[in-house]
Amino acid sequence: MTAHATPSTTASLEQRADAIQAVLRSKGMKPDEFIEQANHLVEEQWVPQNGARVVARAWTDPAFKARLLANGKAAVTEMGLEMPLHHRHLMVLENTPAVHNVICCTLCSCTAFTLIGLPPDWYKDLEYRARVVRESRTVLKEMGLDLPADMEIRVWDTTADTRYMVLPAQPPHTLGWHADQLAALVTQDALIGVARL
Ligand code: FE
Repeated sequence: MTAHATPSTTASLEQRADAIQAVLRSKGMKPDEFIEQANHLVEEQWVPQNGARVVARAWTDPAFKARLLANGKAAVTEMGLEMPLHHRHLMVLENTPAVHNVICCTLCSCTAFTLIGLPPDWYKDLEYRARVVRESRTVLKEMGLDLPADMEIRVWDTTADTRYMVLPAQPPHTLGWHADQLAALVTQDALIGVARL
C-alpha cells in the first residue's frame, strides 16, 4: 500500500463549517439566519410544482405556450415565478410524438432549480451525466422510459447561464381538464425528461 494517511491536522467538515460560521459571526454577519432562509427557499419555494403550473398553463393557453417557447424566462416571470439573475435564459423544450427531450448537466448539477426543484441525487451522479449524452436511449430505458425506436431523442446540456425545462406532451385523455388538475399530473421526472406522462 502506498496510500498516504490523512494528516491528523486536517479538520473535519463540521469543524471547518463551524470555523467559517464563527468568522462570519465575528464580522457581524448572520450565517444561521442565512441558512434557515436558504432552507426555507428550497423546501417551500423552489419546488417542481412551479414548473408543473407552467406546463399546465402552456397546455391550456396556446398564446402563453407560444410566448413560453419563444422566451421562457419572460413567460415564467409573467406568472410571478422567479429565476436567479445568473439564469439568463430559460429554454423550454417541447416534447412531440416524434421528439423526446431530456436535460442534464455534464459538468455538475445545474438545473432551472426555481422551477423544477433542486436536482435529484441521480441527476448529479457521474453515471447519469456521462451516459445520458452517449447512450441516452439505453439510460432512459433503464430509468423506465422505453421510447419507440423511431422517436428522436435530444439531450440538452445545461450551462451556467442557460437553463432548460421539458414541456411534456399532454396526455390525450386530459384534454379539457382544469389547469390545477393538469398541474397535479406533472412530475419532476417529466420536467427533466426521464419520464413521459
Ligand atoms: Fe452544473
